[in-house]
Amino acid sequence: MKKLIAGNWKMNGLASSLAEIEALKGITGEAACDIVVCPPLTLVEKAAERVGGSRIAIGAQDCHAQPSGAYTGDVSAEMLAEIGARFVILGHSERRSAYRETDAAVAAKAIAVHQAGLTSIICVGETRAERDEGRAIEVVCAQLEASIPNTATSSNTVIAYEPVWAIGTGLVPTLEQIEEMHSSIRQALEKRLGENGLGVRILYGGSVKASNAKAIFGVSNVDGALVGGASLKASEFAGIITAAA
Ligand code: PEP
Repeated sequence: MKKLIAGNWKMNGLASSLAEIEALKGITGEAACDIVVCPPLTLVEKAAERVGGSRIAIGAQDCHAQPSGAYTGDVSAEMLAEIGARFVILGHSERRSAYRETDAAVAAKAIAVHQAGLTSIICVGETRAERDEGRAIEVVCAQLEASIPNTATSSNTVIAYEPVWAIGTGLVPTLEQIEEMHSSIRQALEKRLGENGLGVRILYGGSVKASNAKAIFGVSNVDGALVGGASLKASEFAGIITAAA
């Protein structure tokens, strides 16, 4: 399966940061993986214009479940498609915790993303306490089951396994823990989506850097990475892309 390397800029970046996305065009010309950068909403359209014609896709970090209506401050999937987004991150742990996004809300948003012709990157992951209690696989598989809508296929859905305790902390699970979780996610996807479940890409996310990417990409059922901090600088992000290729 072709790996997907996705960058999540979170609430970082002004117009001057677009140079970091543009710089990737030169570095990633021959890379044998798919690449997507998800800048803040304010930069999506400009970023899509800058990477037009290249192998880099642009994504957004959230959307509303409805196509339009009285939802002040929100943005629909259709609007994101119109400004050049091709992917939408959904259910990131920061949104699940800060905005109390439920699995059902994530699934509803994913339907909207699929209906707009975009690909959802659905995030799941356990907290430190849940792992310490030995419930990591149970928690993640339950999140997965309830966050994936029936519209999901291998071409419109990507799963990102992101242990909450590994995001932005410098902590990374052992390769054995990653393998165990990704294999459980694969089984759950197959059970839920049949043949399609075998083709859904499962990304690992949480403190991925150029220095640890190669080892993580060597783990079975790791089909790429969702990268936060290390995606902000083209030089570091390019190191991760190279490790996948
Ligand atoms: C993320 O926010 O999705 C993430 C994985 O962050 P970081 O790579 O900085 O841990």
